[in-house]
Amino acid sequence: MAAAYHLKEQDHEFKVFERVHNVGGNARTIPLNVGGVNRWVDLGVNDFNKNSYTNLMEVFTRLGVEYAPLEDSTGYSNIGPGGAFDPETVVGYTMPSSDRPQMGHNAPEGVLKGAAMFGDAIKRYLKLEDMDQHKDMQWWTMDQFVKWAGFPDDYVYLNLYPRINGMYFAGMIRPSEMPARQVAHYYYLQEGYGTVLPPERQYWVGGTVNWIRKLSAYLQHGLPQVIFRGVKAQIELLDSGKVRVYTLPVDAAAGSKPQTEDFDKVIVAVQTRTLEEIYYRQEQVPAMVKQLKNAMSMETDEVVAHTSTANMPPDPNLWATYNINVFADRDSPERYNITYWANRHQNDPKNPTYRGMTPQFFLTLNPLNPVPDICRLNNKTFGDCTMFKFYHYRLNVEATKAQDNIAPVMMKGIDNVYFTGGYTQGAGLHEECWISGTHVAKHVLDDAHENPHIYLTDDVADKLKVARRHPTPRYLLDLM
Ligand SMILES: Cc1cc2nc3c(=O)[nH]c(=O)nc-3n(C[C@H](O)[C@H](O)[C@H](O)COP(=O)(O)OP(=O)(O)OC[C@H]3O[C@@H](n4cnc5c(N)ncnc54)[C@H](O)[C@@H]3O)c2cc1C
Repeated sequence: MAAAYHLKEQDHEFKVFERVHNVGGNARTIPLNVGGVNRWVDLGVNDFNKNSYTNLMEVFTRLGVEYAPLEDSTGYSNIGPGGAFDPETVVGYTMPSSDRPQMGHNAPEGVLKGAAMFGDAIKRYLKLEDMDQHKDMQWWTMDQFVKWAGFPDDYVYLNLYPRINGMYFAGMIRPSEMPARQVAHYYYLQEGYGTVLPPERQYWVGGTVNWIRKLSAYLQHGLPQVIFRGVKAQIELLDSGKVRVYTLPVDAAAGSKPQTEDFDKVIVAVQTRTLEEIYYRQEQVPAMVKQLKNAMSMETDEVVAHTSTANMPPDPNLWATYNINVFADRDSPERYNITYWANRHQNDPKNPTYRGMTPQFFLTLNPLNPVPDICRLNNKTFGDCTMFKFYHYRLNVEATKAQDNIAPVMMKGIDNVYFTGGYTQGAGLHEECWISGTHVAKHVLDDAHENPHIYLTDDVADKLKVARRHPTPRYLLDLM
């Protein structure tokens, strides 16, 4: 949709095919009725930083997209299914500020000290990583980064590591093994650590779906139908250089024949796990696409909205975000169950039922702590259940290398097929998806377009006869 936006700006013809019945992918809001009160919840993408999502902010202003500040929140993480706050069992301070006096507990000094050092450390890292003489820093793990920065242990184990585990949605990578660059980019862009302007985190009023609706209405405006929902698309490369698109409604009867239409160019914006399936003939899948798919593997998590008291703190006003499982990374190699609470990122503070009134609900993303069926909140439109399966990238060092060396080439197009999506840029945040879509649209419109922030190893750059670029993209350096 980001690419389509730019094609439309240039009066270029386009069609969008979306496999499911709602566009937006991971941007998914569902209406909920909790105890007779109408609410909504964002199951996936739910917040952004107004001061660093500069490309999206322009679009929001132009399309009149409504957003509002997230409530500033404190988060504590306890091992176990939830329960009352207990300083003895606390394992994490998701937000280290001590602004919730009713909790009667402040984060240890080391946590506060480390949090104060973190922004500056990221900034120094991004600057150094960008210099040729420090090239090795681009592949640093978090373990190396943490030692270099000299953070207090309490900060590393009680705040940073539990939090980066949450950021990757309980991925199967130990926090110490995560690539420092991906973590630094995430914190810098989404959370504004070390940026010139302090973060101003926002949510979309009424849920992310409202922004997606505005964008689809804009794309569709003044044109014959260009957005097709509930249609699975596949492509075939033709000898003529054109690309044949096969489309089949997902609810078509078995044995139905797909429709075909030939296009000059096709932009593929699916997750890496389904990249190969996009090709109608498997022998046409480029080697590079296979390589990238293998390097950028995906994991799945189920998110559930529920009212299970066994999965959250007893005070409903503390219910807000995820109950998750993470790697402790200090005492045990096992994953453990962790509940982030008093962390109000998910709910809508403008809703009159938000504060002080029951019933409340909670989101759980934790297979170790399953929610009983009876407590799951139902939603008729989405098949009677709020459960949703998310796939997210395992951004380890191998994936980061593939992102640097293969994704930029795919974005420039292979046989008139161009690739965009969360995997092409950093941690795949909304802003990064938008930037990726923008550049792919520019590649489509002009073969000579150069993506200004791609990074290629010297040998790939030589082969493609393009310049080696910086690992820290311009849009991040601009925030310094
Ligand atoms: C749980 C979660 C929370 C997140 N929260 C945030 C956040 O708060 N802020 C933020 O900035 N970023 C967030 N992100 C990052 C987010 O992933 C990206 O911003 C973005 O949603 C990724 O977009 P995408 O287009 O790459 O993939 P997707 O959103 O997955 O879209 C891919 C689309 O392709 C469609 N498709 C697949 N195959 C076919 C086919 N054959 N034919 C037609 N269509 C097909 C799919 O149905 C899907 O709609 C979050 C991610 C996750 C997983």
